[in-house]
Order: sequence, then structure tokens, then C-alpha cells
Amino acid sequence: MNNRLDYLHAMGIQTWQLKNQPVTMPACPSASTEEWTTLRQAVANCTACGLDKTRTQTVFGVGNTNAELMVIGEAPGFNEDEQGEPFVGRAGQLLTSMLEAIGFDRETVYIANILKCRPPNNRDPQPEEVNLCTPFLRQQIALIKPKLLLAVGRIAAHYLLDTKTALSQLRRQIHHYENIPLIITYHPAYLLRTPKDKSKAYQDLQLAIYTLNHNKQ
Ligand code: SF4
Repeated sequence: MNNRLDYLHAMGIQTWQLKNQPVTMPACPSASTEEWTTLRQAVANCTACGLDKTRTQTVFGVGNTNAELMVIGEAPGFNEDEQGEPFVGRAGQLLTSMLEAIGFDRETVYIANILKCRPPNNRDPQPEEVNLCTPFLRQQIALIKPKLLLAVGRIAAHYLLDTKTALSQLRRQIHHYENIPLIITYHPAYLLRTPKDKSKAYQDLQLAIYTLNHNKQ
């Protein structure tokens, strides 16, 4: 694929035209390497919720630690557990395409999950696991200070908004998490199973880029 229309095609959207220009990342001072190293080691050594017993490795997060856009998903799956990186495999490829459709190279954003270890058989994270693991995510958000959060999927949306409302009702609104604008959309794994909703996800991404650009003015 060599242009953004190709990525839209990969998302199953062939007729929509992009109205936004690619987002450029300004240089800004970074959080100290030491803080990141300490946090990364804390995650790597964590046994708090017991998922260490079944993980291959922890999946810390990946991307630009000065990112304007931070994507938050659910938990590592089989491929992520194997490779130690969030959103690899087919769902990861679709997420990359979704980001490129709104002008973001994957490397320019930061991608993390609610849980840093894979739940067995990809079951939903349990509330106690979320409680024990999310201090790591909160520290990542605090270090990155993104201008926009994009929650993909029900688990991330419910945690960040402290709600049980159906994801379909949380879309198409600008929420906030600790004063950071937050947009909710479908998880790429869901979109692979339900391609008809890819166009809705693209609407959400348009709202995300609108919100990000609006907040920069
Ligand atoms: Fe620790 Fe989180 Fe892994 Fe549980 S999922 S062991 S809390 S890093």
C-alpha cells in the first residue's frame, strides 16, 4: 500500500474522501529516560495479578513517548504475547491502516493496553486484574501527556470512562479522561469480525482527528 486511499480501501471504505492533512509531530521535551526505564522494569517484573504465570512476556507498549495521540486497547493476545508488542497480527495491521487513514504513521503514536499480560485464551480481563495493572497505564499516560486518547474496544472504554454503557452509545462523543480528550471506537479485532462497522470506525477516527486539530488551535 502506498497511499492513504489504499489504507481506506483496506478498511473497507472506498468512497470517503479525506479532508485532513497529515499531522506533524512537534519536537518537545521528553520525560526522562530513567522514568521510562523504571516503569518498564516494574512491568517486566510484575506478578501482581497472577497473569505472570501464563504469559510468555509482558507487553509494555510501543511508540513515540512524545506522541500527541495515544491508543489504548484491551490486553495482549496470542501474537502480542509471543512478540512482546501490542497490536501485531491481523488486528494490529488493521489498526495501523486505521491510523494511516487519518495521517498517522504507527511510529508517531503510542500504543498500550489496559493489561500488560495476556489473559489465558484471550478471555476478558477480570476487574481485579484491571485494578492491579492500570497504575502502569496511568503512569504511561502521565509521562506521555498525549493531546488525545483513542480507546479501542469495550474494555478500554469502560475503564477510562468508569462506565458499563454499551460501546455503541459511547461513540460519536468527545469524552475526557483526566482532562485529556477521549474518543471511543471499535477494537480492530471486532472490525475484522464485523467489517460492516468499519465505516463507523472511520467516522470515529474523523472525530478523533477533528478533536486533536481543534485542541491545537
Ligand atoms: Fe502485573 Fe499487569 Fe501482568 Fe497482572 S497483567 S501480572 S498486574 S503486569
